[in-house]
Parts: sequence; C-alpha cells; structure tokens
Amino acid sequence: MRKQRIYCPYCGEPVVQRHMEGKIRDFCMECSNVFYENPLPVACSIVVNEDREVLLVKRGKDPYKGMWCLPIGFAEADEEVKDAALRELKEEAGVEGEIVRLVDVDTVDNYYYGSLAIVTYEVRHAGGTPTPGDDAEETRFFPVLELPPLAWSSNEKALKIYTDFYRDTWAMVDSYKQLFPEIHSMGEMTPGLTEQKAFLSNVLVKLIDKNTDEITGEWTTEVRSGIPALSIHMKFLSEVNRKVLKSIRNGLQGKGDTLEYLKFRDTGRDLRRLGIDFPDVFNAMALSRKRIWMHVIQKKILSSPLEIYITLELNNRIIFLYDKVIYYLSAGYMDEAPAFTAEPAR
Ligand SMILES: [Zn+2]
Repeated sequence: MRKQRIYCPYCGEPVVQRHMEGKIRDFCMECSNVFYENPLPVACSIVVNEDREVLLVKRGKDPYKGMWCLPIGFAEADEEVKDAALRELKEEAGVEGEIVRLVDVDTVDNYYYGSLAIVTYEVRHAGGTPTPGDDAEETRFFPVLELPPLAWSSNEKALKIYTDFYRDTWAMVDSYKQLFPEIHSMGEMTPGLTEQKAFLSNVLVKLIDKNTDEITGEWTTEVRSGIPALSIHMKFLSEVNRKVLKSIRNGLQGKGDTLEYLKFRDTGRDLRRLGIDFPDVFNAMALSRKRIWMHVIQKKILSSPLEIYITLELNNRIIFLYDKVIYYLSAGYMDEAPAFTAEPAR
C-alpha cells in the first residue's frame, strides 16, 4: 500500500495538506518545506526469442501475486535505468541481456506504489537459461501474440508497441520463407508454423486475375511498337500471351503443375513453323512479364516498405514461372528446328 507522509522528515512536525499550484501538496508549517511527489522510475525488459516468444515471470508475491509480467523492478538512485532493467532481468529471470532499444516510457498512478514512470526496453538474450529468482515463481516464454493477462497495463502497452513495430518485418519474413521453402530446413526456422499462411503478394494475384484483358491489351501495344517483326503474327501471339497469363496466374495460386507448362512445348513448335525468330519470342515474353508487374504497381499505391516488398515478391515469383514457360517454348522450338551442327574449327 502506498505510504503516506505524516511527519516532516526535517523537523519532525506533522505535515498539513495545502492547495499549491493547482494541486494538494504536503507542507510543513514549521520549516516551510513543500513535499513534491515525483514518479518512481521502474525498468522493464522485453526479451523475445527466435520463435517470437516473450520471456515472462510469474509474480511470487503481492501485488498481483500469481500473475505474469515482464521482468521489472525499481531503478535505484545510483544506477542507469537501463542497467536497472538488465539487473532485474538477471535477478528475476536468471538471464543476461543487452539493451537493443527503448520501446516505451509510460507514467501510471499505481494503487500500491503511487506514481511510477515505467521505462521498457527491448533486450537481446545474451546468455543464461531462464530460471525464476528473487520474487518470481516461474519463468516462461509465451508467443508474443498470445499472451496471458499481465499484471501491469504498462507491460501490455509496451508489448503492443513492440509487436506493431515488428509486424511488417515479420509479415515479410514469413512470406519470403515461402518463396524459398528449402530455408525451412535450416535449424532456426520453425517448420509448419508459416506454411499454411498465404503469400503477401496473393492480393496482387487477384488483381492480375481481374485485369487479364487489360494486361494483354497493354502488352499487344508494346509488342507492336517494340518488336515490329512480330506485328504480322499479333493475332496468334495475343492468344499465346493469354495462355501464358493464365498459366502464370495458376502458378501463383499454386494450381499449376509441370503439365500446365508442357503445353508450351507445342506452342514453341508452332512458333518455329510460323518462322518467328526465337530472340523475338524471348523478347515478347520478357515484355509480358514486365507488363504484369508494371500493371500491378500502377494500380496499387505504394506507401510502405511492406507494399514495396509485396510487389518485389510478386516479381520474384513471376520470374520463376516465366522461366518455365520460356524453357518449354524453346524446347518445342528446337524440336522443329534443323539439328545444329557446329563447323569444325580449322
Ligand atoms: Zn519541517
């Protein structure tokens, strides 16, 4: 319970309450001392592991006995607040830490302790196995997005600031891991956790789905002006591009398999029979890929690193799929081409 001042610590006379500067303050009539109330500094640590779990301690004594909270304690007069955070972390949870950055400073009026200034840091786990010490009953890592009710509202506020800060980064990391599934097998990754999640760029796939005609139209215009040799074949090529877009969409939605792309081997043979030069086909496919990406970034307003990442992710995924299309087109083209024989060097 918050302690009340009864006597003046300087002269021992009883203090009185007096209205001063818009507040009620303790005042000593004898020695004219005004007792200003200042918040006590409290230091607190957020330690999060690679699985995005935060280290909490279960309080072994009142107030809030039996409830979970971040490692927390009062800073002393002769120590830096951040050193107090690391000291409390060691005392309560048995863990060595390094300060990463300041997360939050919150002032609260607490029933037990009065006015508090709670300073919360993000702290890197630098050593030691979590072991309850001091007044802690237990220590445990909890998923940072699925926390139990916490003893201090300031802890909840700081953790909200912490997760908001990392939200975009985590979304990008999760999505990127799917682009290269083999990364999952590396020790620090957690298989299964992110596999069911959707690619961030799926939102753009829907846009491609909806605007296929428009994208094909833009492509046709660009091919006509950029690759004049192809203009007499535009009707055939527009159909080819439409099929390519369909396969790319299927591929992006995870629906396409190798058979989806095998049909482009037939298309490759047709291109050869029509006497179209393969470098021009290659060029047209490069434009097809560029058109999708350009269409998407023109339709979406890019306003955050996350959104920029999403468009780059889409481009990355599309490159893989176009490579497959081009591979089968060229394979079919070579089926029809006369066998290549190198002139022996003389
Ligand atoms: Zn006094």
